[in-house]
Amino acid sequence: MKKEANSRLEHDLRNTCTHESAHLVLLKKFGGCGSIEIIRTYENKPEEKKFVGRVNIKNIASDLRKKSIIGAAGYISEFIRADIEQDSGLDEDDAFNLFNVDYDELSETDKKLTVEITYETFCEAFNLVKKYWPEIEEEANKQFQKNKLS
Ligand SMILES: [Zn+2]
Repeated sequence: MKKEANSRLEHDLRNTCTHESAHLVLLKKFGGCGSIEIIRTYENKPEEKKFVGRVNIKNIASDLRKKSIIGAAGYISEFIRADIEQDSGLDEDDAFNLFNVDYDELSETDKKLTVEITYETFCEAFNLVKKYWPEIEEEANKQFQKNKLS
């Protein structure tokens, strides 16, 4: 396989690992538990994702606010990772732009969890993802290593 193709794969895998780890870390912070599953899609179209991931949730808080935060965390974490990589200085003002983004970009599960999210709750999710970033990254690295060769 060409080097370029490899780095695209690794980039996509890392992104998926980060997204799912953000869901999982916040799920655990709210007393829930679950495990991450990542699947290679073997999608040939260049614009399509090479991996899909999900968190198999064993239990989740019934609280709508907490569910919304867990649901939004994956999406938010992708922007925080990109921000760290590019050192662009994402701050709370950017949360507003993220909140107003096209919700069609979200997966069906994420849409279901966040369907009634308010801006206030979204900002809370944004700040929690930043706060727990070291744990999210640690989990993402673990998932990355686990799925790299498969
Ligand atoms: Zn998600």
